[in-house]
Amino acid sequence: MKKVLILEDEVNIRSFVVINLERAGYQAIEAGTGESALQRLQEHPDIGVAILDIMLPDMDGFEVCRRIRATNKKIGVIMLTARTQEMDKVTGLMTGADDYVTKPFSPAELTARIDALYRRIGGNENAVSELLTQGVFVMNTRNHTLEKNGNRIRLTQVEYAISKLFMQNPGRALSREEILAAVWGKEYEGELKIVDVNIRRLRIKIEDDATNPTYIKTVWGYGYKWGA
Ligand code: CA
Repeated sequence: MKKVLILEDEVNIRSFVVINLERAGYQAIEAGTGESALQRLQEHPDIGVAILDIMLPDMDGFEVCRRIRATNKKIGVIMLTARTQEMDKVTGLMTGADDYVTKPFSPAELTARIDALYRRIGGNENAVSELLTQGVFVMNTRNHTLEKNGNRIRLTQVEYAISKLFMQNPGRALSREEILAAVWGKEYEGELKIVDVNIRRLRIKIEDDATNPTYIKTVWGYGYKWGA
């Protein structure tokens, strides 16, 4: 199993990351201080990616990054930065890190960054994730997850498939027949009404006001259009 180190002293954030790493199929190795992170890395030399918070009780995350890089050029490093940290300073200090994610971050975004790093360092490739981002929505096509403003929306597989079709075709009117063929398959013998039923349910989950939808718009006499 691919290992990811998460160095974060705030337990809530760390647990949140751990849950999402595990859901994405990674083994999470946890640390709450810079020293313990360096220790964990010695114990698990096969850790492929390290996520490092910057503000830590014993040293800052950049220092941890420098120490890791002194002996390990191959590991992928992602810094967790706060919005309040000036970007110039962050990028100036970024030497040694591969990527950074700004807090508050969405789990789908973090997982996609880790996947990308793992691909780059020649890890395992059948875990390809693609991020579809539109407005407040982020879809991770590997985890089959959809987030709105960083919050996971629980979808059935059919609702997910419809959302994905929409997000791959923003602004394009999709006929009900087209949606039915794409989601249920060309051989599906059922009624077109199933499309409307599922879209009604999807609207309740993703729209601010399902009776006045702004993301999934109705194209009268034809079908639907995604407009996030
Ligand atoms: Ca911190």
